[in-house]
Amino acid sequence: MSQSAVPFRTRRLVCGSRVIPYTIRPSPRARCLRLTIRPDTGLVVTVPRADENHPLEPFIKRHQPWILEQMDRLAGVMSRVPPRWPYGSTLPYRGREHRVVLRVRDGAAAVARLPERILLVQTPRPTLEGARRLLKRWYLAEALRRLTNRTHTLGGQIGLSWRRVTVRDQRWRWGSCSRAGRLSFNYRLIMAPPAIMDYVVLHELCHLRHPNHSARFWTLVASHCPTYQESRGWLRRYGWSLCL
Ligand SMILES: [Zn+2]
Repeated sequence: MSQSAVPFRTRRLVCGSRVIPYTIRPSPRARCLRLTIRPDTGLVVTVPRADENHPLEPFIKRHQPWILEQMDRLAGVMSRVPPRWPYGSTLPYRGREHRVVLRVRDGAAAVARLPERILLVQTPRPTLEGARRLLKRWYLAEALRRLTNRTHTLGGQIGLSWRRVTVRDQRWRWGSCSRAGRLSFNYRLIMAPPAIMDYVVLHELCHLRHPNHSARFWTLVASHCPTYQESRGWLRRYGWSLCL
């Protein structure tokens, strides 16, 4: 394979006793060098095509204090999230950790949520992949039910009418809204605290009036959800942890 066929390269940044690996991501759309740090990707340096052959070290060194600060912040956030099933024993549902219990049972496979915060997966042949599929199907159905319900209630309160709610499995997008009034949500929102889900529903409903992120849009959001800034911050900090 030629060098140009490898889109991602990884290198290491040595800061005193710390070694921080990073990924170089060439991007045809990027205008300038950019650093991002996320739990799932670590440190990424996005490089515009024009800068692809420039040395990156001076840029990275210049931002070293910021990188170290962000890495520490990220480690702090990650330590506050429990290890999730199947690596740990729990999965979040509406902001609360639920213990996943697998049980062998003849007949149709099913998932049930028990009052003592247990997600009971019953199946004739329990395998990790099979249980994961069942749990995902259950989360998708729960997400559709709850999100439709909240869209109905909040839409009614604001006086906005919508057409249809769908849920999807998306990595980073929480919701979208079409001009025809179709709202689409990320099923992972069912794992978030109810206030976070409500904020995303409200956000998409407000797009029915303002299909942009203008000042008027945010004023409308704030008038119905005064704590929206906190919810946005929560999604930025913890959104990555809502996964199965
Ligand atoms: Zn928006």
